[in-house]
Amino acid sequence: MVIDVDGIIIKTTDYKDSSKIIDILTKEYGIIGVIAKGCKTLKSSLRSVCEKLTFATFTIYYKKDKLSILSEASVINNFSNIKKDIEKISYASFLIDLTSQVYKQNSDNEIYDILISALIKINDNFNPLVITNIVELKYLEYLGVMPKLDGCTICGSKNVVTLSSDKGGYLCSKCRINEPIISDKAIKLVRMYTLVDINKISKLDINKDVIKEVNDFIDDYYDRYTGLYLKSKSFLKNIINVKN
Ligand SMILES: [Zn+2]
Repeated sequence: MVIDVDGIIIKTTDYKDSSKIIDILTKEYGIIGVIAKGCKTLKSSLRSVCEKLTFATFTIYYKKDKLSILSEASVINNFSNIKKDIEKISYASFLIDLTSQVYKQNSDNEIYDILISALIKINDNFNPLVITNIVELKYLEYLGVMPKLDGCTICGSKNVVTLSSDKGGYLCSKCRINEPIISDKAIKLVRMYTLVDINKISKLDINKDVIKEVNDFIDDYYDRYTGLYLKSKSFLKNIINVKN
């Protein structure tokens, strides 16, 4: 069966001298494993598209539960702004790795939409850390470990004064013991991140310190609850630290 399907390459592995095996994340078929025969040869029309991050309409000889064969690819967005900026590449690469890990645990097709919309925003020069944090928070839902963000995680009170990854969400003044207080803006922002439609973001006007508060919470929360370890995240942390 020949299919045309939109998707993004999330992994490539060299195969023999001239070919690659490629994992394409799609909305309709989940992750499709395809072989791109001869794609490493100079004259191959697939040469330029068989790389991680290629977002295209793929024409595939599809075999369910077997390795399919890639015939053609027509690029939808070549993410040219991402590809010319090492920082953006690092964020994109982390998001792709994270998505692969989350998808292994929950193959909800919304995950595809979240990844694509985030990459488009990063390519359109929105703050890549904020976009990445939004994706990370949204993915917690699919990992089944969303923090409690509709009131104090212990008593339910709306009088929230801080966030605690240890306690699993918001804390009110009565239930807080010695958790550091974070800014009101960061408290509101975390909840906003979980609700926002990434496609509809037209402006991000957030103070650097507030971004950092939210990022620190998310990093700590991921370490505690997701069991995911991604090399690309360590790399990204170094970049963020160098900048700050
Ligand atoms: Zn409370």
